[in-house]
Amino acid sequence: MLFDTIAAISTPKGEGGIAIIRISGDKSFEILDKIFIKKNPNADLGFYKLNYGFIKDGEKIVDEVMAVRLKAPKSYTCEDIVEINCHGGTLVSEKVLELVLRNGARHAESGEFTKRAFMNGRIDLSQAEAVMDIIQGKTEKSVSLSLDQLRGDLRDKVNEFKKALLDITAHVNVVLDYPEEGIDDPLPVELRDNLERVYEEANRLIDSYDTGKKIKEGIKTVIVGKPNVGKSTLLNALLHEERAIVTHIAGTTRDVIEEIINIKGIPLVLVDTAGIRKTDDIVENIGVEKSKQFIEKADLVLLVLDASKELENEDIEVINQIKENKKKVIVLLNKIDLNKKINLEGYNLENIVEISAKDNIGIEDMQEKIYSYIVEEDVENSSEKLIITNIRHKTALEKTKDAIRNVFETIDMGLPMDLISVDLKEALDSLSEITGEISSEDILDHVFGNFCVGK
Ligand code: GDP
Repeated sequence: MLFDTIAAISTPKGEGGIAIIRISGDKSFEILDKIFIKKNPNADLGFYKLNYGFIKDGEKIVDEVMAVRLKAPKSYTCEDIVEINCHGGTLVSEKVLELVLRNGARHAESGEFTKRAFMNGRIDLSQAEAVMDIIQGKTEKSVSLSLDQLRGDLRDKVNEFKKALLDITAHVNVVLDYPEEGIDDPLPVELRDNLERVYEEANRLIDSYDTGKKIKEGIKTVIVGKPNVGKSTLLNALLHEERAIVTHIAGTTRDVIEEIINIKGIPLVLVDTAGIRKTDDIVENIGVEKSKQFIEKADLVLLVLDASKELENEDIEVINQIKENKKKVIVLLNKIDLNKKINLEGYNLENIVEISAKDNIGIEDMQEKIYSYIVEEDVENSSEKLIITNIRHKTALEKTKDAIRNVFETIDMGLPMDLISVDLKEALDSLSEITGEISSEDILDHVFGNFCVGK
């Protein structure tokens, strides 16, 4: 496919050692020739090799750079690409980009380089999405899932499903087109088994989304407890740095602060709250309301209790609230460095860890507990299998699954065969949406619009 030539600064904005200007399209090399002079006039520019030289605007030297040419189709976009490594710094890199644009390129839109890789058939849509997930990956585990997807694992699985569906479609077509052949079995056992397998596997992939989402987006965790039990101190201990303001005055952690910590590769999105308590103070009330909302939305609740004190009504209120919500809870008995007075008998609490947020005691035990309680059963068990992390893929697989269920129903009810063809096509189309063989402008805009410019 032939597109115009695009260019953008591919490195992040701001000062840095190097900034990279990327140009893609058939005018790339021509543009480079117009603005680049080699340090050694006799050197061959070649391909896939860095060339030392200068960017010039007329006679004026703009920057000292390294430039590389990548020949189509062996490049990120499958087009001729030029990358100019110039000095980092907004002014210089923008000046070079401006020159490139003046000499025949158009400023790239967000994700347009990756979109070209997709349009030119180098990667499928699921791989393009993986590129963005890698850029945004929060932990090594989430990046590793995205790398599997970039490698094409999901595409391969989808193609395997499609092969099974196409075999069945072929059979159904024969039955429909050549009634004189006298084949009356709408779905021979072998084909039916294949279809059942696709159904089961699609189902498993759909189920894996919850896990995939946790790995990709993190486990929403809320720290609750009445004022002064040590929630802020705990948050700081977890973050290894003093970010939240720790104070002796009850009820001063007013803002909802969101932070991400990494527990064995799984991101935990921690939301520190004002704690749950009834109060006349309006500012505090907002915090309290929010923390209630957060408990509702959270995957995991860390309930902090002060071990050096007996349980108070406020603690019990929090305990009840969590129980009402049926959340996964880990109970943290904080201030274990002091004399222990708390007695939890009769409250039916499990998963209790003794800690001292102030003295950093028990924090590792707590992390182990979090991991095994919320992550291990869910994520570890599925580590060898493909996991989907994208809602778009989940929705498409659900459509596939529904269509296959309709196929079975049609057959079992002895309904006309052409109904099967319709459902098979629906299943195939839904699968094609994942890889992007069937894609509307809307889907593409959505996928690539979330990218940064320059990628
Ligand atoms: P929050 O209101 O629940 O966020 O509580 P803070 O984190 O502000 O802590 C309240 C007070 O308890 C502060 O004076 C902390 O230094 C103190 N504190 C927090 N954790 C511990 C702990 O593990 N041991 C002791 N002895 N004091 C602690």
